[in-house]
Amino acid sequence: MVSTKSGKRIIMEGVKTELKYNRTIWVTFRVEGTHCYPAAATDPALKSVDFLQYPHRHLFGFRVSIEVQHNERDIEFIIFKRWLQSLYETNSVLDLNGKSCETIAEELIEKIHAKYPGRAISVSVDEDGENGCLLQSI
Ligand SMILES: [Zn+2]
Repeated sequence: MVSTKSGKRIIMEGVKTELKYNRTIWVTFRVEGTHCYPAAATDPALKSVDFLQYPHRHLFGFRVSIEVQHNERDIEFIIFKRWLQSLYETNSVLDLNGKSCETIAEELIEKIHAKYPGRAISVSVDEDGENGCLLQSI
């Protein structure tokens, strides 16, 4: 086996095969915030969860993955995480208004894309570790 810049070359029984990798790093963090689901007040299909129309607190959990080019930390975990956390800094509980987890994830992907263009990005946002979403840029 021979290491190369793009992967490892495996030599098996005289056949040379180049392994390719999709490399990503991921970081996690949590943000205390409130949001609500305005449609729960009026949509008959949401009658059983109409309480969601009112602002309520969650500990929103984030798991953010981004493509990297090599194994030597071209995006450093802690620096990346600190930057992401800085996007949500506030002196009180973050008010996310009527934003769903999916909207929060999409907005974050757009901010990451603006800073790190051309890389695959995925963002998972959950509510208290119970339910959540996963958005992946393509
Ligand atoms: Zn909620």
